Amino acid sequence: MVSLTFYGGANEIGGNKILLEDKGARIYLDFGQSFSFGEDYFYDWLQPRSAHGLEVYFEFGMLPKVPRLYNKAMLEKTDLEYEKPDIDAVFISHSHSDHVNHLPFIDESIPVYMGHGTHKLLETYHTLYPQFSDIGEHANLNLFKSGDIIQVKHLVIEPIHVEHSVPGAYGFIVHTSKGPLIYTGDLRMHGPQCEMTKEFVEKSAACKPYAMLVEGTRMGYGQHHNFTEAEVEKEVEQKIKASNGLVFGYFAMSNVDRFMSFYRATVKNGRKLVIDTRHAYIIDKLREKIPALPDVMADWNILVYYRQAKSGTYKETDYYNYERKFMPKMITHKEIAKSQKEFVMHMSFNKLMELVYIQPKNADYIYSSSEHFLEGEENEEEKRVLDNWMRHFGVAFHKAHCSGHASRQDLEDMVKKINPKVLIPIHTQNAGDFKGMHSNVWIPEKEKRMEI
Ligand SMILES: [Zn+2]
Ligand SMILES: [Zn+2]
Repeated sequence: MVSLTFYGGANEIGGNKILLEDKGARIYLDFGQSFSFGEDYFYDWLQPRSAHGLEVYFEFGMLPKVPRLYNKAMLEKTDLEYEKPDIDAVFISHSHSDHVNHLPFIDESIPVYMGHGTHKLLETYHTLYPQFSDIGEHANLNLFKSGDIIQVKHLVIEPIHVEHSVPGAYGFIVHTSKGPLIYTGDLRMHGPQCEMTKEFVEKSAACKPYAMLVEGTRMGYGQHHNFTEAEVEKEVEQKIKASNGLVFGYFAMSNVDRFMSFYRATVKNGRKLVIDTRHAYIIDKLREKIPALPDVMADWNILVYYRQAKSGTYKETDYYNYERKFMPKMITHKEIAKSQKEFVMHMSFNKLMELVYIQPKNADYIYSSSEHFLEGEENEEEKRVLDNWMRHFGVAFHKAHCSGHASRQDLEDMVKKINPKVLIPIHTQNAGDFKGMHSNVWIPEKEKRMEI
């Protein structure tokens, strides 16, 4: 008998944490943190400390008291006794927090499997943000690539690359005693790497699956135009062309497709792309896995922004070790202020202070990240502050973005092509909408076990 228990990812976007059990084999598909995790009890500085372990989370029912899963140190102050784990493996689809963030809680002896690219990204982010990005200690960490065949007891798992807004994303085909089960992870079809998703869909269809766990992030979005990455690049290129001053751009630093769109749009306009030291470090590290990325040290279309630090003289010891490598490519606010039309600069909300030094004139700001921030009520305060900065410096605000998730139409085409016997929507708030696409949709419920 095969069963699925949804500890996250059921009727919510993100937080995937799905236990698959089949005749004594027990594996988790992702081990993420819900985006809403902690929002009912924590606020600003009111946060649990790591010394609390899982005690606080258990108090508020934020994590299930599952035996034989968590690590000893995490359970120390709780009433759940530590026992040797009974989980055979945790499979991670990609590096986003809603798929990996609860990894530090599990026992370190549980085997963890993730893609090479995912590991590289997580390692890189851990160097830069040790307090926010930490997957914990894992004595049995295994890295896979697309096409590998992994055996866990009688289960056979095939990871296959897919395109998403972060590199190194995978879907899985899990061969169970009931037949193949497809797990899409997060994916899209409208970017430069869409061939990878197509390959995943073809292989999934070819194995005639019994069940399919399909992400449905955009199910509720209706039939809006599905912007492609190519359209975003065109839009950015035109905005830069039309600008009479400095152009700021904002997008997630891990989104290398978007980085390439901005890079090409910048170069086509004869400008130089300015990224900060963290961003340079990320691109430099990812280039070890993605050779198509430009070489930050050798490519003079890219310059690295150094903020003014303690000494005010931009000397080496003002900066962290990881930042020093890029000093030959250094640019500061002084050069940018002098020739504003020559640059496109990556600018996140937290770095806006640099505008005081740069004093932008006739500048444009292209917001190129999830709409979530601009529309979500929880970000109203930040949005208000951002608007004030734009107004104060007379910066024109624009948007250019496409989603990291498949459109409703692409999901429908994918479901029809793969044609599983049972369709189980996850990572969505609109699971019921899949009923219009498939005759046998099973809607999962949080912490409930589903026999398939
Ligand atoms: Zn996700
Ligand atoms: Zn994701």
